[in-house]
Parts: sequence; structure tokens; C-alpha cells
Amino acid sequence: MALRQIALQGEECLQKKCRPVTEFNQRLWTLLDDMKDTLLDSGGVGLAAPQVGVLRRVCLVMNEADEIIELINPEIVYTEGEQTGLEGCLSVPGKYGEVTRPDFVRVRAQDRNGAWFEAEDEGLTARCFCHEIEHLDGHLFVERTDHLMEGEELENYIRRMEEEDA
Ligand code: ZN
Repeated sequence: MALRQIALQGEECLQKKCRPVTEFNQRLWTLLDDMKDTLLDSGGVGLAAPQVGVLRRVCLVMNEADEIIELINPEIVYTEGEQTGLEGCLSVPGKYGEVTRPDFVRVRAQDRNGAWFEAEDEGLTARCFCHEIEHLDGHLFVERTDHLMEGEELENYIRRMEEEDA
């Protein structure tokens, strides 16, 4: 188990466009394994390589069945619908904002051996695909929301949403 340090908003590595992965070797596999440990330790649902200071097009997304999908050189090839909901990021701890994303997303990516595959999902996991892939171009979710919430305001917002769902 090897945890990597997660970069915080403002650090340069989060603002860079990442380069494609061209070699599917032990170095990549170690990165993926360390990212997986780091993601599980953090309690988040997604992690992108620039968040651990590696400027390569690699990210992880955990779906609602708790499976971690490894995405190398991912691109969104199809989207459908729209959802607006609360979004946060391990690089912006404690702060959340409302972000509008597609409700359904299909992604094309390579696996850790370089084989191309497609993955698709809706709801929270669709949101996560969009969020993680944006990290690879140096963007954070905070650019997509006009208001960040934390503390009591955040708690009140979540309570209001739960009441609406009930
Ligand atoms: Zn993030």
C-alpha cells in the first residue's frame, strides 16, 4: 500500500494539460495501484493523476457498485440529458457547489494494458467521469459553479435536498 499526497487547489499541477500515456509498463501500473490506494483511503469516488502530481492522462472512477474503473487516455464519446447537483473534489476539501453535467455519459479509454474499451453510466458516476476527465485538461469543478458552500450552509443545503427527496 502506497499513498500519494493529494494536491490542493492553487497548486500548479492541477492547472496543466496532461500528456497521453504511450507506454503501458510497470511505471503506469504502480501509479494506478498507488492511486487506487489513495482513492480508497480518501473516501472519494474519483481521482485523476494530476491530483497526485503526475501530468498524464490517467484517472480512476468508482461506480455505484464500488468498482474502480481505470481510465487511460479517456475521452467522452457520447452524452445525454442533464443533471444539476452537488459536486466536490479531493483537491478542494470541505467545499461543494452545484454543477450541471450530462445525466448519461459514455467514455472510450484504454485499460492498463493498452486495450481500448467503452464504459457508460448515469447519475453520480456520469458526473464523476466528466469531473475526472476535466482534471486531465487542468480544470476544476469550481470553474463550473458560481457559489461554493461549506460548513453550516452546506449542511442546510443537504438537509433541504433530503427533505425534497423524502
Ligand atoms: Zn476532482
